[in-house]
Amino acid sequence: MRIDKYLAHLQLGSRADVKKILKGGTVTVNGAVITDPKTKVDPDTDTVALAGQSLTYTQYVYYVMNKPADVITATKDSRQTTVMDLLPDELYRPDLFAVGRLDKDTTGLLLLTNDGTLSHRLLSPRWHVDKVYVAGLDAPVTPGDVRRFAQGIKLKDVTAAPATLVPLPAQHAQVTIHEGKFHQVKRMFAAVGKDVLSLERIQFGPLKLADDLSAGAVRPLTDTELTALQ
Ligand code: URA
Repeated sequence: MRIDKYLAHLQLGSRADVKKILKGGTVTVNGAVITDPKTKVDPDTDTVALAGQSLTYTQYVYYVMNKPADVITATKDSRQTTVMDLLPDELYRPDLFAVGRLDKDTTGLLLLTNDGTLSHRLLSPRWHVDKVYVAGLDAPVTPGDVRRFAQGIKLKDVTAAPATLVPLPAQHAQVTIHEGKFHQVKRMFAAVGKDVLSLERIQFGPLKLADDLSAGAVRPLTDTELTALQ
């Protein structure tokens, strides 16, 4: 990995800030002063120090994003904006991925990490991690819809496990599911004859989408959030 990227990951600043730090001649790799931002380092074997203090690389990172609409949940795409494109330099790492996916037009809480073990567990149906969505619909939810969701809904290829449906004002509804089948919420509503006009994920397990995380913003999880998730 390039030294400027490595230092940016350590939250020493943006790539431009890091370039300035490197120019100052205070960064060493295995004892030798490095000023060229293109210099490659191996985080596992090289000792990188700043002004004599050795820096440690964090193996796993965990971010929460408020995904905006019109952005795809992918790591790379040649034509469309991905959630990774929204990350500031100092948070970006090439090994990051999203835990599950939200459709292009779905907004809200998306967890990004490079921790495959945690991701696997959070997505496994066995762990029953609740995902809570608010859907805007083309018609009000009926008591019959609430019953159908509670019973589990047969979709074309699979049956969706029982889900909690709570009607909200203005043709909105809150849905809680613990699976992550393809277009699951939209397909469940389609099965009761309703179109989803907007969909926002407001909760993923213990993580809640807070008002202070604006659309497109991303931040590292707090220690409390991470402990709750693990
Ligand atoms: N269900 C859907 O239909 N779409 C999403 O993005 C998430 C859940």
